[in-house]
Amino acid sequence: MSEKYDVIVIGGGPGGYAAAIRCAQLGLNTACIEKYVNKQGKPALGGTCLNVGCIPSKALLDSSWKFHEAKESFGDHGIKLDTVKMDIAQMHKRKDEVVQQLTGGIASLFKSNKVTWLQGTGKLLPKKRVAFTPLKEGEEEQVLDAENVILAAGSEPVNIKDAPLKDDVVVNSTGALEFDSVPGRLGVIGAGIIGLELGSVWSRLGSDVVVLEAVDTFLPQVDQQLAKETYKVLGKQGLDIRLGARVTGTSVKGKKVTVSYSDSSGDHEETFDRLIVAVGRRPMTDNLLASDAGVELDERGFIHVDSQCRTDVPGVYAVGDLVRGPMLAHKGIEEGVMAADVIAGENTQVNYETIPLVIYIHPELAWVGKTEEEVKASGEPYKTGVAPFASNGRALGAGDTAGLVKFVVDEKSDRVLGMHALGPQASELVQEAVIAMEFGASVEDLQLMVFGHPTLSETVHEAALATDYRAIHLAQRRPKKKKK
Ligand code: FAD
Ligand code: AMP
Repeated sequence: MSEKYDVIVIGGGPGGYAAAIRCAQLGLNTACIEKYVNKQGKPALGGTCLNVGCIPSKALLDSSWKFHEAKESFGDHGIKLDTVKMDIAQMHKRKDEVVQQLTGGIASLFKSNKVTWLQGTGKLLPKKRVAFTPLKEGEEEQVLDAENVILAAGSEPVNIKDAPLKDDVVVNSTGALEFDSVPGRLGVIGAGIIGLELGSVWSRLGSDVVVLEAVDTFLPQVDQQLAKETYKVLGKQGLDIRLGARVTGTSVKGKKVTVSYSDSSGDHEETFDRLIVAVGRRPMTDNLLASDAGVELDERGFIHVDSQCRTDVPGVYAVGDLVRGPMLAHKGIEEGVMAADVIAGENTQVNYETIPLVIYIHPELAWVGKTEEEVKASGEPYKTGVAPFASNGRALGAGDTAGLVKFVVDEKSDRVLGMHALGPQASELVQEAVIAMEFGASVEDLQLMVFGHPTLSETVHEAALATDYRAIHLAQRRPKKKKK
């Protein structure tokens, strides 16, 4: 007879592993079913994020940025290098080691927390039962019973019929993390977060990169003042981002791919050595739910949940990329923890208003809360404050002065509604605003705080001061009041 668990988690990515560990902390007998087998042929935890997402992409972004700096800016610091060469195999070896260290770390955490890792595929059946098909050949399928089930099966890349994947020539994000040489000409379909990050990696290593984006507006979800600045910065770095360019077909001949696309000026063709399809991700609901499991999907194909990740079946929860909200590892982790706490009867919530978003280009683009466009559309009075990194001593010392910080503030209450940063370490700086917003800070609170000198955070301070024309290191002029 198979064991009955307090909780079965299906999926061992950030949402699932965090849920499983938190359940175990709360004293619940927990199993996590994960089917992934890594490229070394070993079962691995960590999901998309650790295996083929956040972590390997950031490892490559760091390697490629160091190479770029060695070539382009070490000379400014007086560091003379006769030749700078990139060893792609070594870059991948290092990335793979980082991935293995982290995925192995999750397996150790499971052991120390006594979470049972069931290696194989899970499918939700009615009445909180789960069909488990083990990875190991010859082992029989079992039906497991649970008091609670947490679905955390994540997402997968969207494929488009106009650009079917082909070997290592037309690839998705996973393939783009594995190119064994630097493509001469690289095409990217989609100027979203993943397309821009992966395009940046290979551009820094020497590819001539063209990004084709169907929508006319660059990064429509981002505050447009920062989006425009980002577009300029990436253009200077050599990324040729073509907006309003919808891909209509591809043809692969040998090791080349020709992409057809149309824009307002007509139909065009471009030939590339490699093409990355980065047109979004979809929730992985295929084969996860028996037809009579009772869990409903929303109109966009995500599992329907309430604000605490309860599905329509009592005792069944869903978290992470499977459910509404941004597809981000940290959002999935917090939802996993919340689902575990709900099961254990703890008081808990995720504040969806203060989830930070980051694009790990250089300089980094990070934001939290509302954009100026969103606040303007609401009709409520607001004020903004902007400060550039150009006058920040720390940024100048590092030779990293592109970008700015912007606050959007409620005029009446003085509450911080959003912070947007393009600049060095923006991913870290945005967390200052997350904390401020979580504590319901007014911008005056930030203005009156002491920021260390010289730090990049001083630009956050200056932007907060600038909302009231109080910035010290900026020539700000208060607009004259209109005569009545
Ligand atoms: P996943 O990480 O997708 O994990 C789901 C797991 O469930 C998988 O391991 C899968 O094998 C398993 N599974 C699925 N179905 C079953 C089943 N039936 N039985 C058993 N197991 C199953 N997010 C960030 O926050 N920051 C970043 O910098 C970032 N960079 C990214 C870069 C790239 C290239 C990509 C592709 C994504 C990136 N993301 C990033 C997004 C991030 O990876 C996801 O938001 C995150 O992994 C979602 O976590 P999850 O637990 O919901 O799902
Ligand atoms: P994201 O969903 O943020 O990963 O971004 C994916 C991007 O791909 C979106 O900005 C889409 O507009 C873009 N996209 C989707 N299909 C196409 C296409 N056929 N041609 C060009 N861009 C596309």
